[in-house]
Amino acid sequence: MTAPAPTSAPIELIDLQAQRARLGGRVDAAIARVLEHGRFIMGPEVRELEERLAEFCGVGHAVSCSSGTDALLMALLALRIGPGDAVIVPTFTFAATAEVVALVGATPVFVDVLAETANLDPAGLVGALHAARGAGATPRAVIGVDLFGQPADYDELEGFCAEYDLVLIADAAQSFGATWRTRRAGAIGDLACTSFFPAKPLGCYGDGGALFTDDDELAATLRSLRVHGQGTNKYDNVRIGLNGRLDTIQAAVLLEKLAIFPDELVARDRVASRYQEALADAVGVLEVRQEATSAWAQYTIVVDDRDGVASRLKEQGVPSAIYYPKPLHQQPAYEAFPTASDGLTVSEHLADHVLSLPMHPYLDEATQDRVITAVRSATA
Ligand SMILES: *Cc1c(COP(=O)(O)O)cnc(C)c1O
Repeated sequence: MTAPAPTSAPIELIDLQAQRARLGGRVDAAIARVLEHGRFIMGPEVRELEERLAEFCGVGHAVSCSSGTDALLMALLALRIGPGDAVIVPTFTFAATAEVVALVGATPVFVDVLAETANLDPAGLVGALHAARGAGATPRAVIGVDLFGQPADYDELEGFCAEYDLVLIADAAQSFGATWRTRRAGAIGDLACTSFFPAKPLGCYGDGGALFTDDDELAATLRSLRVHGQGTNKYDNVRIGLNGRLDTIQAAVLLEKLAIFPDELVARDRVASRYQEALADAVGVLEVRQEATSAWAQYTIVVDDRDGVASRLKEQGVPSAIYYPKPLHQQPAYEAFPTASDGLTVSEHLADHVLSLPMHPYLDEATQDRVITAVRSATA
């Protein structure tokens, strides 16, 4: 056990060292084993991790890869989405969601999000189809983003994709471990992508990601894409692929972290519930839908005078972060792409008012109370 932190200890937004202390020597030993066996590329830990991930999510296949962004890219490549195609994405997300669509030469079409959850608003989907066709592109897929850790409204998204014959891709970069009804993120959508970036709910010590699917053929295509489109052997190239492998060392780290992850999810939920109870009467809070549980990648509040609140928090030693200060349809790189309606007003409003607070499984009650007190006084 480590001694309780003094009340003046700096507060971390995400405290990876607390997790490291809990893991003790296990990660170091796991890395040492890889250094010993020397199979740094596609070593045995990679295969083992994929089995554990698939089991954890309750899905047929987990294909590990080099990052969450590459997972999304590989999803589009596997589906042969490219020039002339359109992919519907929320505008209030991390750039990678739309970036990969543009990278493969397809057209991202932006839709707004819901004020209550900050996730894709299904009411914008039909307008997005019109916008795609208006831009001369054929709608092929929807990417549902599970922002801040909560799955998007997959009842609505699955119904819409079935009706219009679109592929549903879940950007579960922030929601690994979350659930929608009886399914875990990973087992939702035709294909799901996640990220193991260090600050994500399940993070490694570098870049990493994974794709999930129940489709055997798609899984085989993804495994081929990951190693330059290989066929029966390394020098047989049956499709254009990339180097999208997860390092063995990162797989070894993830195996150790996955072992404590269910416990961390419970702790994350406990921290988030305490915030919700202590702050709901003072600031805007996002809601978790009754069909969902969140992995709480972030705990995000909605406040007036956001920048003032952030600086008053900082004065009191409480860090905060803005995810995201500008919706993608307003970014220079993306502003020429079609949008579902003239204004994506909820996203624009959230971009000006969201603030994410310290959130991790090891946030003890005393530290959390310092955050809560600071937020209440900064917004009073
Ligand atoms: C982090 C993130 C990604 C990209 O993951 P990387 O591993 O950093 O490439 C994609 N989408 C969303 C919503 C994310 O939060």
